[in-house]
Parts: sequence; structure tokens; C-alpha cells
Amino acid sequence: MESSKRSIARKAMTAVIGAVAVVIATAATVWAADNLVPTQTYSPTCSAGGDTSGVLCKTDGGWWYFYSQSSLEAGDKTRVADVLNDEYAPTDLAVAQDTSPTYSGADETDLILKESAVPGTNDGITWCNDPTSGYECDQHYVDIQPDLYSSRGLICHEAGHAVGLTHGAQAYPVQSQTDPALGCLRTPIGATQDNLGSQQVTNINLIY
Ligand SMILES: [Zn+2]
Repeated sequence: MESSKRSIARKAMTAVIGAVAVVIATAATVWAADNLVPTQTYSPTCSAGGDTSGVLCKTDGGWWYFYSQSSLEAGDKTRVADVLNDEYAPTDLAVAQDTSPTYSGADETDLILKESAVPGTNDGITWCNDPTSGYECDQHYVDIQPDLYSSRGLICHEAGHAVGLTHGAQAYPVQSQTDPALGCLRTPIGATQDNLGSQQVTNINLIY
């Protein structure tokens, strides 16, 4: 009787230790680094700017409205909607497509995508049009190089910058630019890197 009770207790304790180990292992694989601004590595305040300003900003709160301008082909618009619905809508961001975009005032459409010449060798670039306060921006633009096939990976990457997600070099602790934990925020952007990934989902849900 006595020894069987001890055996049950030991089994229970082993199960508890096992459960704790599983929780720790899960946490370690889900959350690898903070790569949403501001991080301890990268914390400039949001500023408006042309395509080359390079400052990453969060989107301001509430709904996250996106709109694809007419410069994007039908296929691009479909892919934009698919990526935002597949990768971002399952997070705590309240994603919605705007049918009638707003370009002025205090509540502009949050994310405007269009074709426009991208400086340098990049295929796309994200920039803030209207910083509000601190690290937030009321309206982001994503420019996609004209006549380029806008892959799911490229859209996922640039949309990520529009909610403040960084590359590995700006994460804390700093990660390799090609760390698989960065999902579609890896750089250079690859054709198969079209998923947001659990690290980014965790960081988005911590902030929004
Ligand atoms: Zn990037």
C-alpha cells in the first residue's frame, strides 16, 4: 500500500516535471527574440519620410485597414488580400480591407500598397507617411517595384515592417538576418519564406 502510494506520487511528480519541461521547451521555440519596434537594439522615434528614411514604426491602434491602389495588377491585389488574411488576420491585429481609402485627417487608411520605383536593389519598401507620436504611424505606404511579380513572401515582409517588425539585425537579442525564426522577415527575401512565423505572431500579440 505504502510503496504503491509512493510510486503513484513519484509518477505524478515525474509527470509534473515533464509538463514543466514541455512548457519551457515550447516557450523557447515560440519566442526567440523581440523584433517589433522599439527593441533594445533599435529604437528611433517614428519619422515621416521618403522611401529612403528607413525608420520602422508601429501602426497606430484599433483596426488595421489596408488598400491596394490601381497601380497594382489584379493578381497583386488578390495576393495582398490573401497574405493579410492568411498571415495577419489570425493575430490580434484587427485586419480589414478598405474600399474607400482615407488620405488625410487623424484616422487615415493604415496601409496603402502601390507600384512605384523602389530605390536601390530592393523589390519593395515600406515607409511612414504620417507619424503620430513616439513609435507610431497613422499611415504606411508599401512601394513595390513596377512590373515585378509581387510574391507572397515580399508582401508578407513589407506588411510586417508596416506593423513595426524588424530584420534580425534590429532584433533583441540580435539574430542572423536569415534565421528561420524570422519567417518572412528574413532577408534577403526568398520565394519560400512566405509565412509570418510564430515569433512574429507572438510579438504582434504582445503589442497589439
Ligand atoms: Zn525588410
